[in-house]
Amino acid sequence: MQIPLLDLGREYEYIKKDIKESIQRCFKHQRWIFGPEVRELEERIAKYIGTKYAVGVASGTDALLISLRALAIKTKGKEFFDKKDLIITTPFTFTSTGEVILRAGATPVFIDIDPDTYNIDPTKIREYLHALRLTPHASQVVGIIPVHLFGNPCNMDEIIKIAKENNLFVLEDCAQSFGAIWKNKKTGSFGNISAFSFFPSKNLGGFGDGGVIVTDDEELFEKSYMLRNHGGKDKYNVEHIGYNSRLDTIQASILLTKLKYVDEFNEKRRKIAEMYEREFKKIRGVITPKSLKDAYHVYHQYTIRISEKKRDEIQKEIKNKGISTAVYYYVPLHKMKVFKEKSIIPELLKETEKASREVLSLPIEPLLKKEEISFICKNIKEMI
Ligand SMILES: *Cc1c(COP(=O)(O)O)cnc(C)c1O
Repeated sequence: MQIPLLDLGREYEYIKKDIKESIQRCFKHQRWIFGPEVRELEERIAKYIGTKYAVGVASGTDALLISLRALAIKTKGKEFFDKKDLIITTPFTFTSTGEVILRAGATPVFIDIDPDTYNIDPTKIREYLHALRLTPHASQVVGIIPVHLFGNPCNMDEIIKIAKENNLFVLEDCAQSFGAIWKNKKTGSFGNISAFSFFPSKNLGGFGDGGVIVTDDEELFEKSYMLRNHGGKDKYNVEHIGYNSRLDTIQASILLTKLKYVDEFNEKRRKIAEMYEREFKKIRGVITPKSLKDAYHVYHQYTIRISEKKRDEIQKEIKNKGISTAVYYYVPLHKMKVFKEKSIIPELLKETEKASREVLSLPIEPLLKKEEISFICKNIKEMI
């Protein structure tokens, strides 16, 4: 048996008739840049997430970067943030989350995670802001970027409350959480602005790169709308330092089709997570994922925790049996050269470092079969 972490081929087989028809429509109209599918997808996504606006862009990274640039323009009246502007985020994420803070001109502050959910710990954000009150840095914190890691929603009540009390913006990194829900509202509908990725492996993925920004804020929408297309309302009225960061028509057409399946596929992911949970419940030595009471987790990854003494060996052994797994993330952001001298690390990030030594993400392909799940569990159990 060969079980990849994610088998996009299966998904394609399942929906290929629909996909082929949507691509055929593009061949007919030939409007490859800002064709009608882009606008339609933006409208559908805004409606799905529950925001007024959506702006398609070239990647999830660009969605984050353009969101930050729009926030700088709106809140500071400047094109970029300054180094002294501090943005709080998690070190346990994909590098992109931290990279965009530097590219937007600001300085990342890495706050440790909650060991149960792997998401940034709101209590630790509070402690940091509290400690800062008596220092000259107090008013330099401008915003928070929470990441709904692995598709598991952060406690958005707490994060929004902290932001309001401290006059901070919230940019939600929803790259892994398309369809996830916190208290009856989709992730992406809580912050001032939010970023999603359509990277092929994400819960809603295209056949290449893509991303989308959503917001209720008219000014942030207008700025993002301009920034993705060279910074102006049109070619000759350029107001800002912009990008060529458009979402391709052909990607939009594929995503419109895949959007019809995303809830069904997220449900399938949750069913697989339940099966894993049942199998692992009885054995000591495997810690299964936890989410908060009000969270609807969409399992972009199904990530277990095992003893750091055994993790790498188990990964290697089961690989020999045909089971692919991944470690997200081996190296937390604060350990990377690019961030080391350019970020603030208020204290030892011990939960993050412990997690990076213990986590293992198992296959959670929505069309995974029962026998495959049993095979994976059996092989892990034998080694624990
Ligand atoms: C994938 C991802 C991104 C970046 O998205 P791209 O589309 O690959 O640029 C950002 N943040 C997180 C948490 C991600 O998982």
